[in-house]
Amino acid sequence: MPVQTSCPSLVIDVVTIFPEMFTAWRGAGVVGKAVESGRVAVRAHDLRAWSQDKHRKTDDYPFGGGAGMVMCPEPLFAAVDSLCAGDSTVILMSPRGPVLTQSMARSLAARKHLILLCGRYEGVDERVHEHLVDLEISIGDYILSGGELAAMVVAEATMRLLPGVLGDAESLEQDSFAPGHGMLGWPQYTRPREYRGLAVPDVLLSGNHAQIAAWRREQARELTGRLRPDLLREPAAHEE
Ligand code: SAH
Repeated sequence: MPVQTSCPSLVIDVVTIFPEMFTAWRGAGVVGKAVESGRVAVRAHDLRAWSQDKHRKTDDYPFGGGAGMVMCPEPLFAAVDSLCAGDSTVILMSPRGPVLTQSMARSLAARKHLILLCGRYEGVDERVHEHLVDLEISIGDYILSGGELAAMVVAEATMRLLPGVLGDAESLEQDSFAPGHGMLGWPQYTRPREYRGLAVPDVLLSGNHAQIAAWRREQARELTGRLRPDLLREPAAHEE
């Protein structure tokens, strides 16, 4: 049972027309423990609660015609008005934004309150992009049907960087893109020592910690050079 802390170091408010999508995610694994321990508060709000329309509508036809619906500005502005505190950062999930990186997650983890707005349909009214949000974040160059999965990705990448969220503090340093090296993580093995004739590298069974550390550094460099050479060439892309 995780220790209950009195004050969360980060509050994440998500605004969505599908709050139920967050239920399973918020209850499982590292995210579940972080929420249960009180280190992070994650709340999923139904955007329809801020709709003034009698059918609780949050979208309408695009001016000028064309396919699909656009999310109306009023409920989104009203949601931010009611959730915003002095130290809030309002973020729109959006394919227009810069693509999330580990260093962006580190910078979000240093904030106190994130409000994540999830678009749907053809996206949100342009006035939301221009006048409501502090940041837009994309999770990659492809189009999802809504911002909910993107919000979970942003929230999870951020939460696991908060002090005390990962059980073993070392595992953060071992992760790919960690600040010290910015490379991919090294290969990991577990029991059995041999499986279908495939043996675990001898060095890992040697008990020689210096040799193991050197082997891991070398493997991480080799993997990164082979699979993600861009990380070695452009340290500025993943380091602030
Ligand atoms: N017509 C828009 C896409 C709308 S997709 C366009 O061409 O840019 C509907 C919503 O899904 C968006 O408003 C956004 O909130 C979310 N979304 C889609 N793809 C995303 C991505 N790659 N990253 C973050 N959010 C995304």
